[in-house]
Amino acid sequence: MSGFAELNLRPELLRAIEEQGYTEPTPIQVQAIPLVLAGRDVLGGAQTGTGKTAGFGLPLLQRLLPHANTSASPARHPVRALILTPTRELAAQVEESLRSYAKYTNLRTTVIFGGMNMDPQTEALRRGVEVLVATPGRLLDHVQQKTLNLSQVEVLVLDEADRMLDMGFIPDVTRIIKLLPAKRQGLLFSATFSDEIRKLSDTFLNNPVMVQVARRNATADSVKHVAIPVAREKKRELLSYLVQTRELKQVLVFTATKLGANRLAYQLNGDGVHATAIHGDKSQPERLVALNEFKEGKVRVLVATDVAARGLDIEDLPHVINFDLPNSPEDYVHRIGRTGRAGATGEAISLVSPEEQEKLEAIEKTIRLTIPREIITGYGMDSREVSSVLPHAGRADSRRERGGDALSGSRREPRPRDRDRPRNPPSQASRRTSSVPIDPIFLEPYRAETTRSTSAAASSGANSGSKPAGGKPAVQIAALLGGMRFKTK
Ligand code: AMP
Repeated sequence: MSGFAELNLRPELLRAIEEQGYTEPTPIQVQAIPLVLAGRDVLGGAQTGTGKTAGFGLPLLQRLLPHANTSASPARHPVRALILTPTRELAAQVEESLRSYAKYTNLRTTVIFGGMNMDPQTEALRRGVEVLVATPGRLLDHVQQKTLNLSQVEVLVLDEADRMLDMGFIPDVTRIIKLLPAKRQGLLFSATFSDEIRKLSDTFLNNPVMVQVARRNATADSVKHVAIPVAREKKRELLSYLVQTRELKQVLVFTATKLGANRLAYQLNGDGVHATAIHGDKSQPERLVALNEFKEGKVRVLVATDVAARGLDIEDLPHVINFDLPNSPEDYVHRIGRTGRAGATGEAISLVSPEEQEKLEAIEKTIRLTIPREIITGYGMDSREVSSVLPHAGRADSRRERGGDALSGSRREPRPRDRDRPRNPPSQASRRTSSVPIDPIFLEPYRAETTRSTSAAASSGANSGSKPAGGKPAVQIAALLGGMRFKTK
């Protein structure tokens, strides 16, 4: 009997998940499925990538199964489960998953979000649907237009509640909650737990059970972090350099602003790196096209803002590059959450200008890890500036003491000794070559780090020139990020 069958899921659901290729439930599924089946309210500490959608979706569908019917009458298909998500992409992905899980049931699912014509959504609602996935704003639009009746909702799911809060959706969510029957099941999922999230959960969950998991298949080695000091105005050149010389294939790049995302994608294309931007100002069809092209490998670099990237389900994404460091350390955790999934190794590269040093330190404090610096000279920082962004000597050890538990396996491997590293810069021939046209700047002599002796940490951040052909840092520092921001008070 599969692990899923042991969770007492019905055959029609087991058949669907088998088709999805799931063989064993993930930790959040093992914990959440029995609770949701039992009708309990659940407060879940889990981010996208843990399998949380099936964690709430499968038992939710099973609870609705007694209502499944083949009647053509809309009245026989009222909305019984409402799933609210912060972004359109997440809504689309969650609905797609639920639809595939419900494939062998007679339960209907649909998704509604802004940026799309309301008419087809209205039509789907009019025909009747048991499971509705929605973003809050568009849901309220439908309520206002009286194209949606929520009086028979039995289960409410708030997905990525922390992001809802960040995006200012909580007043909308509160309005929506008031439209629902008082007697209902409530499920809330969030990667991080602030006081506000707790307040929110108090208002709509009834005696919830808390479940908490780390990211699926996250292992100590699944994410490598590296910070590269660079002058702000040299970031784009450095990014092109990294993508081309390391032959990075599928790179998600984060910028602070929509404008910055657009400009960067444009410039990267000028450099011969096929890139596209995805952000809130783009229409939904445009965003979906961009995402699909990226997933299919037609676009090499997807430039995104935090809001746009939230909830994107891109499996096995090998590289995330922070072009701009995020304002909040939690966003770093979210950004990095998309690498190293499903046991794959991910690399998180942050391009850090001197102005961003404080942000980097805040991130290190949050993830309780000293991120190794990799020095690539020629990008506008003199050695004094570089040393100012290096971690202070001794800090790594104190971090490790403080952070060992929370990281569940983060570790600092022994640093390569000086004698293990080449004294001289590698020859042009030994450097990796790229099949794409390279900007002349990349043909300049490439020198090894100038500040090797300034900090022990500098030596732990492998210099590109001293690296093996794989282009990977010589030292791996890994962190188990998922779930660790979950605080219970
Ligand atoms: P989620 O965290 O719900 O966004 O899920 C992340 C990814 O994991 C999705 O692509 C799911 O299809 C996949 N997934 C969910 N549960 C399982 C499972 N038990 N086995 C394998 N893959 C899964």
